[in-house]
Amino acid sequence: MFKLICTLSIALILGYGCQYIYDSEPNHETVVVFTFDDAHSSIYTEAFPLMQKYGFPATNYVPISRLNTEDHLTVEELHILEEKGGWETGGHTVHHVNLPQTSIEEAEQEIAGCKEFLKDHNLQHRTFALPSGHANEETLSIIKKHFSSIRGSEDFKVTCPVDRYSLGYYYACNTDGSEKIIGRILRGMANHECVVILGFHYIYADKSLHSRAVTPQEFSEILEFIHERNLKVKTVSQMLEEL
Ligand SMILES: [Zn+2]
Repeated sequence: MFKLICTLSIALILGYGCQYIYDSEPNHETVVVFTFDDAHSSIYTEAFPLMQKYGFPATNYVPISRLNTEDHLTVEELHILEEKGGWETGGHTVHHVNLPQTSIEEAEQEIAGCKEFLKDHNLQHRTFALPSGHANEETLSIIKKHFSSIRGSEDFKVTCPVDRYSLGYYYACNTDGSEKIIGRILRGMANHECVVILGFHYIYADKSLHSRAVTPQEFSEILEFIHERNLKVKTVSQMLEEL
């Protein structure tokens, strides 16, 4: 990849023109955002202690009907994530419904009900992630009434200014390995993206258990890479406030 460098003053004084250089220097301004979806308990038992080693926060999108059920996060754990880890809790409907397939009344209940629950339990409730990435104009307008940002399920280049109602993400699959996920961050840096949003679901030692699982080892390698490159890690709402 080439970058055209023109230093006018030097060019005038020394007679140098513009020169092409390889753009191999990383752009340290690229922010990394970790998001977790669907409230699986491994977010707390596996991901949280690893994130804490580096003091990295994350945004945690929860379908609230799954909270306090087997293999899922509890409300108490969400509080600990917010208070001790600086994490952000976000909405993901009540029942993880496919919003365009619901009636308007049901969509309103799913979206507003989720927000009310988070609010009533003194949890953060600013950002929302579309279940399975689906929404239509009507459901988007309901979400915008209740939340101040929306993360979808598509991965695309994000440059500033960031559209808070159209946030993309790269979701990790069990076939990726840490190299591919780190490769997505490197691509963001090379393309001078404002932010690379990553999405995780399950952190399992045996990642064959789920197509969206990564191992603790792979997850640690990603964190180590971010730490070594000194990249900023923020929650979705922090990133939107600061970019
Ligand atoms: Zn989901």
